[in-house]
Amino acid sequence: MAHEPTTSAEHFWMPFTANRQFKGRPRLLERAEGMYYTDTDGRQVIDGTAGLWCCNAGHGRREISEAVSRQIAHMDFAPTFQMGHPLPFELAERLAQISPAGLNRVFFTNSGSESADTALKIALAYQRAIGQGSRTRLIGRELAYHGVGFGGISVGGMTNNRKAFGTLLPGVDHLPHTLDLQRNAFSRGLPEHGVERADELERLVTLHGAENIAAVIVEPMSGSAGVILPPVGYLQRLREITRKHGILLIFDEVITGFGRVGEAFAAQRWGVTPDILTCAKGLTNGAIPMGAVMVDEKIHEAFMQGPESAIEFFHGYTYSGHPVACAAALATQEIYQRENLFQKAIEIEGYWQDALFSLQGLPNVTDIRTVGLVVGIQFAAHADGAGKRGYEVFRQCFEDGLLARASGDTIALSPALIVEREHIDAMIERLAGAIRKAS
Ligand code: PLP
Repeated sequence: MAHEPTTSAEHFWMPFTANRQFKGRPRLLERAEGMYYTDTDGRQVIDGTAGLWCCNAGHGRREISEAVSRQIAHMDFAPTFQMGHPLPFELAERLAQISPAGLNRVFFTNSGSESADTALKIALAYQRAIGQGSRTRLIGRELAYHGVGFGGISVGGMTNNRKAFGTLLPGVDHLPHTLDLQRNAFSRGLPEHGVERADELERLVTLHGAENIAAVIVEPMSGSAGVILPPVGYLQRLREITRKHGILLIFDEVITGFGRVGEAFAAQRWGVTPDILTCAKGLTNGAIPMGAVMVDEKIHEAFMQGPESAIEFFHGYTYSGHPVACAAALATQEIYQRENLFQKAIEIEGYWQDALFSLQGLPNVTDIRTVGLVVGIQFAAHADGAGKRGYEVFRQCFEDGLLARASGDTIALSPALIVEREHIDAMIERLAGAIRKAS
């Protein structure tokens, strides 16, 4: 039922939002089912972004809500510090069945940010555990997003997320990003040019000495900065260089995990296995906050060497392996498997790409980057400033019944993996209309 919000807007300090602009003209969602939201005016809005890249099985999945309500009634909470309950063990085993080869030890967190910080800490502690304690430097990449913890923003490379805070982690370098419109604009699938940007890692190794570098962290595909794809051979090259120098490779798969680019993880789609992999979002279909870090068993083994009575890793969250989150995750994984959703993303990829490339030639469209069920459509910046056109297209899309995501002057779409051709057609029609109106 449509209704006017009755509460005051002033108390909720909204994250990553222009609060005053938003509160002057709010966009409020009230209900969600399948591929659609309903807003507080009762309008149906196609969810082009799976919430915030997380509801990969679509909205309103009964199996998940029932599992959550059963679990919360049965046992609402149980600690996992020096205690346990069966669900995180079961979930970890289940995740190990779909994880890239060898990454079968699982540490639970509550978010992508916590997963990133946890992965960095595992990398540092591992290097000490194997007698390589001088390896303290961490390498991220320009335009990367690894959440908002101090670890994540230190290795991250989105300027606005860093510049007001400084970084608390010393000894961080950044590889160059792989966005290259001049050579790669409108590529289909992975761009041809740019593998050599991975070689910058060799320069950093020469500069600092491999014996001082613990890990490299990258998103296999950058999502939040506007869908930046890895050039052909780039991830392989990073893997070769890290392996050669004893540097750990961490993939942040918070967006790419659980079928977004087809296959369970980007590591599998692109045939490169990292040492550590982070995930969140699609793990529970966005229904309950949860993240995880999947670790190569050899790394885990290095921690398991001291006296048996010693805590091996001084890290964890009150809610690591929370029973209700585990119940949501188990129900979600069951849906992914039963409905073969990762495969479905690959099957519909061609149709999705063709539909998106019909936008090429519309006013101000300077690039379309797509793989799996994700796309970034980049626009020429407005004369009034960077980000204005992207925001205007996003705003117009919502007015026309499509939830898209703006990152600067790029619009990203990442629909649920249950998307059908008719949804894609409707999304493209609304997006094309919004692009024209915003021009
Ligand atoms: N890492 C990546 C690659 C992400 O895209 C995100 C969120 O979008 C995060 C980490 C942070 O996740 P969260 O917002 O759950 O902390």
